[in-house]
Amino acid sequence: MLRLLASCLTPRWIVSAAVAIIGLISVALMAQLLQNNSYAKPSYDKLECDNSISLTSVPVQSEASLAPVIHDDDEFIATSSGEPKLEKATFMMLVRNSEVHDARSSIRYVEDRFNKNFHYPWLFINDEPFTSEFVKMTRSLVSGKATYGVVPQEAWSMPHWIDRQKAEECMKTMESHKIPYGGMESYRHMCRFFSGFFYRHELLADYDYYWRVEPNTQLYCDITYDPFTFMREKNKTYGFTITLHEHESTIETLWPTVQNFSRAHPEHIHPNNALDFIIDDQKNITEGSYNFCHFWSNFEIASLKFFRSQAYGDFFDALDRSGGFFYERWGDAPVHSIAAALMVDKAEIHWFYDVGYRHQDYMHCPEPLAEFHDSGKCFCNPDQNVDGKSYSCTKDVDIDGELGANTGETSAAKARKIEDVRERQRTFLANVSGFVVPGCYRMIVCLG
Ligand code: GDP
Ligand code: MN
Repeated sequence: MLRLLASCLTPRWIVSAAVAIIGLISVALMAQLLQNNSYAKPSYDKLECDNSISLTSVPVQSEASLAPVIHDDDEFIATSSGEPKLEKATFMMLVRNSEVHDARSSIRYVEDRFNKNFHYPWLFINDEPFTSEFVKMTRSLVSGKATYGVVPQEAWSMPHWIDRQKAEECMKTMESHKIPYGGMESYRHMCRFFSGFFYRHELLADYDYYWRVEPNTQLYCDITYDPFTFMREKNKTYGFTITLHEHESTIETLWPTVQNFSRAHPEHIHPNNALDFIIDDQKNITEGSYNFCHFWSNFEIASLKFFRSQAYGDFFDALDRSGGFFYERWGDAPVHSIAAALMVDKAEIHWFYDVGYRHQDYMHCPEPLAEFHDSGKCFCNPDQNVDGKSYSCTKDVDIDGELGANTGETSAAKARKIEDVRERQRTFLANVSGFVVPGCYRMIVCLG
């Protein structure tokens, strides 16, 4: 008998038996998977064909998220498996189909450094329907629910009070002056969308906080706590990592428009605001001039309640009516920053110093070696940290008293340092030819 068995165990028989066993296991696994899949399969066709301009959002449940997180209908309370309790919060990425690989890279950084342990949902928003390819390539990387939506048409077009011909002339002029994105209408729609519409998008309706993610961004430090919980528990409204100076020529009439707004709505200006961040000379809003400092808004963790407030709504409407999103090229970064600096308590603005982050040429890398690097928490080069550079605004501003507050310097020493920094900033701006437009070019002309 044994001899018979041994004679059957030829290599060919072993291979055949192995193939049969693997086949059986695969069939069993497939059956199990189908049984567990309580979520409907996403309808890619619908996404591709959905070219209506109305806001049809198509939720797509990631396969990856079939595992642990269970969203309760009333509250986002997880879970039966010891997962962290989630806040009403989401990642949000405005992105074009053509940017899928840069989007994937950003998703991967966020998942690896943070979200693989939390499984917060992702929202992908586009001014046109996402392709099935985009959906497939992104949903395969997220560990939370992924939802894909389009921008409603009114949030991506010139409002009726804009004189299109004038806007086009302004764009041409700005393009000829080599102002970054000066000639691009779509860039203006993007800036206006982030300034006044994203928080009203129906896909964000159930959330209190968002974390904005852009394609082609990198995260360099493990985030082992929940920043959304931090925001809620510490009563924070707006969180940033990097501050920069805006190109003056893109917002020539923004500050006068803000000054008018502050005169019309003094009730919206917070008594303990962060005016120091946006005005250097310790003057008040109506007498001071804007220093062009802004929170770089491609990274933001912020409260949607703030953007949905009466104060912010009045602020955006005043700006939008003035036409500067189209006649100039107002960015959402100075718009968000000025709003946050003026209309919330400065203690509500948080510098996420511990978040190592890069987009394009600028990186914030936490410097203290013992805390951030020796431990293996971060892997960026602190020598390349943007904060000390002349074009950053963070170094001399104590936003919420958490960092850089008690340097032990006398106020005279601090004032000298600030003046030195300002001088370097002026030199920097003057040297970036093409960005600083000669005095003969005034966008005021466009605003007539
Ligand atoms: P920059 O960071 O100021 O150079 O501007 P980007 O080109 O990176 O645009 C900012 C964000 O808006 C990114 O998330 C882009 O993917 C997105 N974006 C810009 N223009 C468009 C557009 O026309 N359509 C869509 N869907 N997204 C856009
Ligand atoms: Mn960008």
